[in-house]
Amino acid sequence: MQSQIDPSPSLPANMPIAGHVDPVPVPREVTPREDGRVDLIGLPKKQIAALFETAGLDAKAAKLRAKQVFHWLYHRGVTDFEAMTDIAKTMRPWLSERFVIGRPEIVEAQVSTDGTRKWLLRTADKHDFEMVFIPDADRGTLCVSSQVGCTLNCRFCHTGTMRLVRNLTPGEIVGQVMLARVALGEWPKGSGDTRLATMAGLDDEEDEGTYSSDGRLLTNIVMMGMGEPLYNFDNVRDALKLVMDGDGLALSKRRITLSTSGVVPMMERCGEEIGVNLAVSLHAVTKDVRDEIVPINRKYGIDELLQACSDYPGASNARRITFEYVMLKDKNDSDDDARELVRLIRQYKLPAKVNLIPFNPWPGAPYECSSPERIKSFANIVFEAGISAPVRTPRGRDIDAACGQLKTAAEKKSRAELDRLAEEKMAALG
Ligand code: SAH
Ligand code: SF4
Repeated sequence: MQSQIDPSPSLPANMPIAGHVDPVPVPREVTPREDGRVDLIGLPKKQIAALFETAGLDAKAAKLRAKQVFHWLYHRGVTDFEAMTDIAKTMRPWLSERFVIGRPEIVEAQVSTDGTRKWLLRTADKHDFEMVFIPDADRGTLCVSSQVGCTLNCRFCHTGTMRLVRNLTPGEIVGQVMLARVALGEWPKGSGDTRLATMAGLDDEEDEGTYSSDGRLLTNIVMMGMGEPLYNFDNVRDALKLVMDGDGLALSKRRITLSTSGVVPMMERCGEEIGVNLAVSLHAVTKDVRDEIVPINRKYGIDELLQACSDYPGASNARRITFEYVMLKDKNDSDDDARELVRLIRQYKLPAKVNLIPFNPWPGAPYECSSPERIKSFANIVFEAGISAPVRTPRGRDIDAACGQLKTAAEKKSRAELDRLAEEKMAALG
């Protein structure tokens, strides 16, 4: 095992870290479009109406047009104003001169031997990020990214070795769901971009599954791609509102899960303003180990985190909080760790389930996965305490699509650079 990080950098303890509550500059702002047009994807209906009004329509017309356009965007999946047939022909050029329907570009699509699909996407200002689709017997889950890179630096996570390039915008976040619908052929016939479906290899008959009552393959969303969603709270909230909006993509909040490494000050707002299921990357039950592997623990410790879970609005026995726990050999995987996990869940009276994640390796990772016997023993202790503890089957490992393997090629760095970067991020944690 390499030791590349000094776990206790000698920096002021109160140094701010990136995020909504204690913000430090995010490396790069979104570059405005060169042509000056405004991208409508990611905007709430009201804001679209306000833009139409500013552009010259009277209030009533602006509201009506916004309603029509919104429907075409999110219900029909059109990418061209010309396709909006209930909008007057003369009006369509007026729209396309001022606005665009932007979606991330698909740079590459890969398919795993187990059916998992990964797409490399690119923003209009040329930053690459990834999304993953995981088909299962009874559901299809899209794993959505919230940032390009991550400000945090969990030691077992490949994304954590990237610099944070920038937060994704609401449009780029909701755009992932829209692209997945294209790739899965789930927009009404005639409105989707079939070229993309073909490129993603998803227009085969065998992919025409019927998972949901309306025959959709994409039934669930997890904010578990690149980035820490609660450090991009506003954009994630605005995007998920469009995903949940009955006039928008209309996916129930019960089918959406947001995973956080433990940004305690934002958890209550997450429950109140978004209301989705919560998953927490706990991964360790002692301060020493969690400080090492999930360094945000130095700022928000285990007790604070579990208290925030206990206070999470909407959590109940019917809507449990998921604790993610990556199984790292000889690090966090002993029977004592399992017993301590049970004790903590009981102490905070948490409606909880535990998701045990076998560690997914990546080049240069300083850990190994626990043995199957160890994972089984750990799972049994939790399970016998009456807490559900499934072991997550790794998916898409062969295409680096599994948990914690996401990292875009453009960001690959040397070991020395990784060490330097880890130190920088640690320093920011105070
Ligand atoms: N940033 C958020 C969400 C993205 S990560 C978070 O940390 O919660 C999704 C899950 O995969 C997290 O629980 C994360 O800790 C876990 N993970 C990261 N790297 C992993 C790896 N190499 N093997 C297994 N799980 C990993
Ligand atoms: Fe960021 Fe989550 Fe990876 Fe930690 S596990 S580095 S918070 S993406």
